[in-house]
Amino acid sequence: MEYTVDACERCDELVESRSRIVNGVGTGSLGIVFVGEAPGADEDAQGEPFVGRSGEVLTEKLAELGVSRDEVRITNSVRCRPSDNRDPRVGELENCRPYLVAEIDTLDPDVVCTLGRVPTTNLLDGVGAMREVVGDELRVEIGAKERLVVPCYHPAAMLYDRSKEETIDETLARVVGIARSD
Ligand code: SF4
Repeated sequence: MEYTVDACERCDELVESRSRIVNGVGTGSLGIVFVGEAPGADEDAQGEPFVGRSGEVLTEKLAELGVSRDEVRITNSVRCRPSDNRDPRVGELENCRPYLVAEIDTLDPDVVCTLGRVPTTNLLDGVGAMREVVGDELRVEIGAKERLVVPCYHPAAMLYDRSKEETIDETLARVVGIARSD
């Protein structure tokens, strides 16, 4: 299945609220796929995931680890912006999941890092609070293969709760370490 989506109208509300479909970016050559929630206003305007303030945080944190955005893949659980930045609905996540699975299948990363609660619960059935799984190395069946998934807090979390920064730093360092060791 093609994972770069040029036209899709599976989600009625999102077709109305989006300006464009926001596909993932980056080669993923290091072996990491980061999965966020959904495009926000900045992403919808620029057509690229994680380019707003939280995207700057992610880019800075990766740079501190010697990693450029282009070496990793950065994508989202749904590719169209929900109105008022609401969470994507279960049906919307299900509609868009085949594109995400195809992206992960094709890029075949060493590790998938979910950024925040929505992508974590989308890929890991039965997960409760983020604090129970953040930084864990979990084996999860995604598409054709069992994958290593490491949940991380959303980068925006540290903007309003600095106590999460250390955990974000540790989790991203772990994810990069896994990719570099393979
Ligand atoms: S969110 Fe995904 S499934 Fe829904 S309309 Fe956009 S591209 Fe299609």
